[in-house]
Order: sequence, then C-alpha cells, then structure tokens
Amino acid sequence: MASLSDTLAAVSALNAAMGIQSPSGKVLLRRFEVSLGVYFDDLATRVRAIELENLAGRFPANDETTLPAVREEVGRLVQGPITEMSEDLYLLLALWLARGYETASNVADRRVDELALAGSEEADATGSVVDEPRLPEATSYAARRSAKLVVGINTTTRGIIQDTIATGIKDGLGVPGTARLLRNRLSDMSITRSRLIALTEMNDAMSVSSFERIRSRGVAFKTTVLSDRPCPICIKNNGQGPVPVDQLFASGHDRTPFHPGCLCALVASRGPKGKLFS
Ligand SMILES: [Zn+2]
Repeated sequence: MASLSDTLAAVSALNAAMGIQSPSGKVLLRRFEVSLGVYFDDLATRVRAIELENLAGRFPANDETTLPAVREEVGRLVQGPITEMSEDLYLLLALWLARGYETASNVADRRVDELALAGSEEADATGSVVDEPRLPEATSYAARRSAKLVVGINTTTRGIIQDTIATGIKDGLGVPGTARLLRNRLSDMSITRSRLIALTEMNDAMSVSSFERIRSRGVAFKTTVLSDRPCPICIKNNGQGPVPVDQLFASGHDRTPFHPGCLCALVASRGPKGKLFS
C-alpha cells in the first residue's frame, strides 16, 4: 500500500499543472473558445447579409479623401448586427468566466491544503474550505468583467470591419475583392481572435480567484507555473521564485496573465525559508 507521502507526491505531481493548465482548466478554456467562435460566426453571417462590399462600388477606388466617410458609413451599418448580438456576447462571457473563477478558486484551495498537509502545518484560522461554492464572488466578477469586455470587443470588431472595407476601397479591390477580404477577416475573428480572447480572459478569471484565495487563506508567497511554451517575460517572473503576496512580479503585474495569450498559472508557494502562512 502506498504511504501517505507517496500519495501526496502523486497528487502534487498531478496538480503541478494548475489553473488554466489543469485538466478542468483546459476543458473550460476549450468550451469558452468554441462558444466565442460560434458567436463570431453568427456575427459574420449577419455582417455579410448587409453587403458592406457594395460600398466599394459607391466610393471611388484609390481616393484617400473619401476614406473617413467610408469608415463612418461602415461604422453606422455594422452597429446594427453588433448591437443585436451584444446580449449574447455578454451572457456567454459571463457564463464561462464565472465557471473559470469558481473552478480555479477550488483548485487554489486544494493546493493550499496540500502544501499545509505536506508540511504538517496548521491551516490558517479560517480553516480548510474546500469546494465551498463561491458563486456570489464568481458571478459578481464575471458580470463586471463581461460588461467591460463587451464594450472593448465590440469596439475592436467595428474597427476591424471599418479597416477592411476602407482597405478594399483604397486598394481598388472592387466589390468582389472587398467581399473576399471581408470574408477572410470575419473568419479570422472566429478562429484567431476567439482563441486569444478565450485564453487571456479565462486565465484572468482563474488568476483573480486564485489570488483571492491565496490572500484570504493567509498564504505569504505566490509564484507561477509556466506553460510549455513560455515567453521571456513569463520566464523572468517565474525565475524570481517565491514572491511575497503583496509584491509585484518583475514585469510589474501582481498576478497572471502577464500578456495577452499568457498561460501561466498563479499558485500559492512556500517562502524561501519554507514557511507557508504569514
Ligand atoms: Zn505567461
């Protein structure tokens, strides 16, 4: 029969992949990405129905002076489909961010418990609260963050479509060429852009809640778990070893993600002298 320390080591190895890198984190991330892809596909269908490429027949090609008018007209036309789908976007963001927040909160608690148990330390005064539902915190984070994100995502979407039609006209692509360019940009949104948004925002939701648990459990130090393809910023932050909870990482951030698309997970850590709680 395996000893307690063997079992703990096995559990720790399993949970070395934390937060967004944990099996549950990966599943949530994938589903979030798929939902965003569906949203961008639906939006693309509605945008294509308004046939913005026809503007390439109405405005003269290669005439830079008309571009501000083109952008204004595109912005006005595209606002319809964007507004129609705003509520859907908000709801899907809020759903997945709340689930990410809650999942990471429980994962963070389990790590604190494991670290405490492995070092035979007394858990903090609030004690172990594994799997206590944190729906109120999760939903309030998700509601706040999603409302802000919807505004940003909509503004970016409008800007991308304005740029696309303006490029079609500026480069004299004509109606069919502009339509093709628009189709490509829209399909890129549902693939590349949905992936980047899902990665960054799922990690943010997970990191916010991990950080909240690390602090409220009284853990004194934090560190990161690198993804399998870390960038120099992330390597430097991770290379600092345990960082006091209220101190910033070398990059100037207090937690992950350190850049768009960052997959580093924020985790509780023992201090340099082995102490877990402050
Ligand atoms: Zn990173």
